[in-house]
Amino acid sequence: MRIDLHTHSTCSDGTDTPAELVAKAARSLDVVALTDHDTTHGWAEALAAAEHHSIRLVRGIELSTRHGSTGQHLLGYGFDPNHPELVALLGKGVEARDGRIPAILARLATLGLELDEHAVLEQSRASGGTVGRPHVASALVAAGYVRDVETAFDHYLKPGRPGYVERYAPSTVEAIRAISAAGGVTVIAHPRGARGALGDRALEELVAAGLAGVEVDHQEHDPTTREELRGLAADLGVVATGSSDYHGTRKTDHDLGCNTTSPEALEELLDAAAHGG
Ligand code: AMP
Ligand code: FE
Ligand code: FE
Ligand code: ZN
Repeated sequence: MRIDLHTHSTCSDGTDTPAELVAKAARSLDVVALTDHDTTHGWAEALAAAEHHSIRLVRGIELSTRHGSTGQHLLGYGFDPNHPELVALLGKGVEARDGRIPAILARLATLGLELDEHAVLEQSRASGGTVGRPHVASALVAAGYVRDVETAFDHYLKPGRPGYVERYAPSTVEAIRAISAAGGVTVIAHPRGARGALGDRALEELVAAGLAGVEVDHQEHDPTTREELRGLAADLGVVATGSSDYHGTRKTDHDLGCNTTSPEALEELLDAAAHGG
């Protein structure tokens, strides 16, 4: 049984449509979760494709949140996407994402990198999905300003670089509560990855707020980090997951199924969710 609980489609910053992603997943996986950034827009298409290709789809999301001084990504599964509290939280997130793009472009323009908003939106194949820095990065590549997406982030788009603009994000605790209120379960994504490490105490706080799992096996975690997190998850009595964080061609070394979650872990997670995933 091969289970991958974290992937992105064109509804956020992946490069495969939900249907393409599910078709690819069906070749090597038994269960795949679609977890686009701050949107559930791809669920319907992914579900239809999952039925067609006889693979189990777990409907999920990856929320951008903030805990203390670090930006943290929170995975949610098995929730009602129409729950008012969650709808309000997602609305604010999307608004903040949309508002940030012109601000980023204005900063890039002062560096002589001229891009219009249309060029960025063109990098997002799906209408109604969420846009972010990866689309700006792809637009910079397409305009010939940088060699690749990695360089775009390294030179311009990551925190501390001249094109970086902060945006609103709910607190991680607030997001855990919103997904829980909507009947779902939450897993903290790559908590010791490139975005800034979440400490032991911080993880305890999140578990106290209702966090159900920790993404342990992720490409941004080295073997030592993985073992530390596995121990911590066991001590805190929460589930340890593993996943690819697949983004199609926008991220290398994140192939579907490169990390997986055990069937027991998936069962434990979704048993706690009211909406079954
Ligand atoms: P945003 O949601 O607009 O803040 O963009 C965050 C997304 O950008 C992450 O989910 C990653 O997919 C991608 N990302 C962040 N840092 C990098 C990086 N250094 N290189 C490539 N992609 C990155
Ligand atoms: Fe992403
Ligand atoms: Fe993430
Ligand atoms: Zn992700």
